[in-house]
Amino acid sequence: MKITSDFECGNGKNIVELAPGHWRLDEVGEKAPYCKYFCVRIDGEEDGGPVRLDIYPDPDLGEAGRAGMMGHYPSPLWYSENAMERWLNVTKRWPGVETYGDDHISTQVVVPPNRSTYVASNVVLSWSMLRNWAASPATQGAVVDALGTTSEGREIPRLHIPPLSADGAHRVFVFSGQHPSEHCGPLAACGIAEFLCSSHPEARAIREHTDVWIVPMINVDGNVHGRNGWTMEDVNPYPDFEGACDGREPEATEDRLLWHWLVDELRPELCLNFHGFLGQRSFVEFPHDGFYVLQDPASVYTDPARCALYETVRDTLFWDTPGLTGAGNPGPLGPQSLAYNLARYCGAVVPFYEINHGFHGVYGAKRKGVDVFRATMRAMGCG
Ligand SMILES: [Zn+2]
Repeated sequence: MKITSDFECGNGKNIVELAPGHWRLDEVGEKAPYCKYFCVRIDGEEDGGPVRLDIYPDPDLGEAGRAGMMGHYPSPLWYSENAMERWLNVTKRWPGVETYGDDHISTQVVVPPNRSTYVASNVVLSWSMLRNWAASPATQGAVVDALGTTSEGREIPRLHIPPLSADGAHRVFVFSGQHPSEHCGPLAACGIAEFLCSSHPEARAIREHTDVWIVPMINVDGNVHGRNGWTMEDVNPYPDFEGACDGREPEATEDRLLWHWLVDELRPELCLNFHGFLGQRSFVEFPHDGFYVLQDPASVYTDPARCALYETVRDTLFWDTPGLTGAGNPGPLGPQSLAYNLARYCGAVVPFYEINHGFHGVYGAKRKGVDVFRATMRAMGCG
């Protein structure tokens, strides 16, 4: 038996076998609360068998890291027996194996001989899987290229789903993956592409006059290295856009590429951004999703009509999605965010949705992405 995190999207260090079939490891965090994600592979080798896994907070982050990680649990853990393609809750097969303490969480799986099982805090979509996935929409009318390359030289996948009619198309932008451990976000963006490329009548109606651009995974390097939230240049991409609408350059290579393409070329009317979070400890009702909204939209938009459209979309999502089931109130979308800066710079409507990735697997995240997108498009009068 062997346990490793040495693979794309892996996260776990100081992996030690305490007794036969009983292992411990430390999560690898960047800065609290970005210290909740783990993903390891258990290789059964000749014998296989039951494996108890104890997962501890990153000791390098001290008490803040402990509180930061444990604050995300209890939350259902996930496993995959086929190379991260298909994920299930651990307790579906082994009820009662998960325990959550103050200083670590624990679970158990049974690994067949000569097979591998992935165990993670949430389902995972790697950059390589995303690139393989993109081959399918590319055969269904989507144009797949790259926004550019990351600080470590990897391509940032970009999809363009052009309108079916030439005139009067609305420019729509969907993006995710700022915080790489929130894999539900890229999955939501992929779901939207799959929906739009399908024969669903609502998808066809939306595509008639909508020009859709999708960047499912902006922080590709962070994804590959199994990071929680930061880029490999040690930037948290969410607040990296402070002052961008007044000419300040974002710090991260990927954020500069994104900002300049958006404001110099695309100038989208809509920017739909997905994030994710974990757990249920302080959230009100299942499925514990969340929203972030502009606090005072009238002070952000220069055009009152754009402000009114933003408020229409915001209020539609309050009622047509479960975005208020996490905190019960939306969080603030501040001047450090891309959303705020795009709203100010070119009047983009900026819905910002958080999927709880403890409770959404691959299909749940894709479906949630499509639900939020459809509700947004109805409110925008598209389709
Ligand atoms: Zn996030």
